[in-house]
Amino acid sequence: MSAAGVVSSCSRLCSGVWLLKTGMQKMSSFGFHTAARCAAKDYYEVLVLGGGTGGITMSARMKRKVGAGNVAVVEPSQTHYYQPLWTLVGGGAKQLATSARPTESVMPKGVEWIKSRVTALDPDKNCVWLENDTKISYKYLIIALGISLHYEKIKGLPEGFHHPKIGSNYSVLTVEKTWKALQDFKEGNAIFTFPNTPVKCAGAPQKIMYLSEAYWRKTGRRSKANIMFNTSLGVIFGVKKYADALLEIIKERNITVNYKHNLVEVRADKQEAVFENLDKPGVTEVHQYEMLHVTPPMGPPDVLINSPVSDAIGWVDVDKETLQHKKYPNVFGIGDCTNLPTSKTAAAEVLQAAKLCEPEGRKGFASTVGVLNGKILFYVI
Ligand SMILES: Cc1cc2nc3c(=O)[nH]c(=O)nc-3n(C[C@H](O)[C@H](O)[C@H](O)COP(=O)(O)OP(=O)(O)OC[C@H]3O[C@@H](n4cnc5c(N)ncnc54)[C@H](O)[C@@H]3O)c2cc1C
Repeated sequence: MSAAGVVSSCSRLCSGVWLLKTGMQKMSSFGFHTAARCAAKDYYEVLVLGGGTGGITMSARMKRKVGAGNVAVVEPSQTHYYQPLWTLVGGGAKQLATSARPTESVMPKGVEWIKSRVTALDPDKNCVWLENDTKISYKYLIIALGISLHYEKIKGLPEGFHHPKIGSNYSVLTVEKTWKALQDFKEGNAIFTFPNTPVKCAGAPQKIMYLSEAYWRKTGRRSKANIMFNTSLGVIFGVKKYADALLEIIKERNITVNYKHNLVEVRADKQEAVFENLDKPGVTEVHQYEMLHVTPPMGPPDVLINSPVSDAIGWVDVDKETLQHKKYPNVFGIGDCTNLPTSKTAAAEVLQAAKLCEPEGRKGFASTVGVLNGKILFYVI
């Protein structure tokens, strides 16, 4: 395909497609990365990597712009989870099954679902590689691969989850163990952790602590629980206004906060958690627990580490105003896998999606969101 051919077909797309319009404007100065248009199903106008909150949201919006059959989502999972609900699953207020939908049912009509995993990105050739060495080319690429969990970076995990008294709301495999540990609690330390890495939903490690505290109060066991928040951070929350409000609640509910405490080991057979003091490298403290809630270290998905689309750490390197890639103008990123300076939440993504499609669009703060049957659900406060 010649550059002229690409430009003429893109011009048609540009009417009313803010994402593509932005891309076009910058492309004239960057020049094109030529892509050979392949046989049907080897090429899409818009290819989306990842069928989580960001990927499904953007595929629905892009299908409305470029038409059925022209958008595809690469997503390996058969089940789509509404992860914000896991806070309530761990707290005993919801069943895990209510957070799950078959991926097929959330894929917007007219969007093709490619049931595979992307293994490499080649933005200079406008294509990606999937499992089984399949190559898919695109005109525009949207990367929405989420963030990876690294329980294995804590000594003793993930195998420690085979023991009782320990849970983690961050994984579908361990979230129900949180509720079990909460119910089984008798007397002693209840420890809630926050790792020394970026995390998705930085509020979730605390939310389960407040839910647990309320549950033990309701069931008459509060006086038996010594509740601790052991965080790698030096503050309770990144935004001072909310940090001040949270500190009042923490005081009122008699919760202990240990700052700069990073969980490095779990001896689940002995119900011991080992924390490194980040102010004194190499110095560790052992805390006995009756219940432990682990928020794991997190990082960019493996496929993005050392990828041409990523920054030095592995996050997709995008412009914070347009979500457009800083080097490849036909590549965009959304959500937890990017280096956007927003929180890594679905709520932030709703606003990112609005920005991608309508730069002058919605303003506000969405507190929680999800995707159901291709529709975005969210509350704006
Ligand atoms: C316990 C918990 C509580 C939360 N609470 C809230 C809340 O109250 N409010 C809020 O706004 N947010 C909350 N979040 C965060 C929210 O769920 C995430 O920020 C959001 O899901 C991120 O969307 P995403 O599209 O970037 O990533 P995800 O939704 O995680 O989707 C990434 C997708 O990429 C796929 N993928 C990964 N690797 C590959 C590959 N190689 N090839 C193809 N596909 C791949 C994955 O299978 C996944 O489907 C919470 C999260 C958790 C875990």
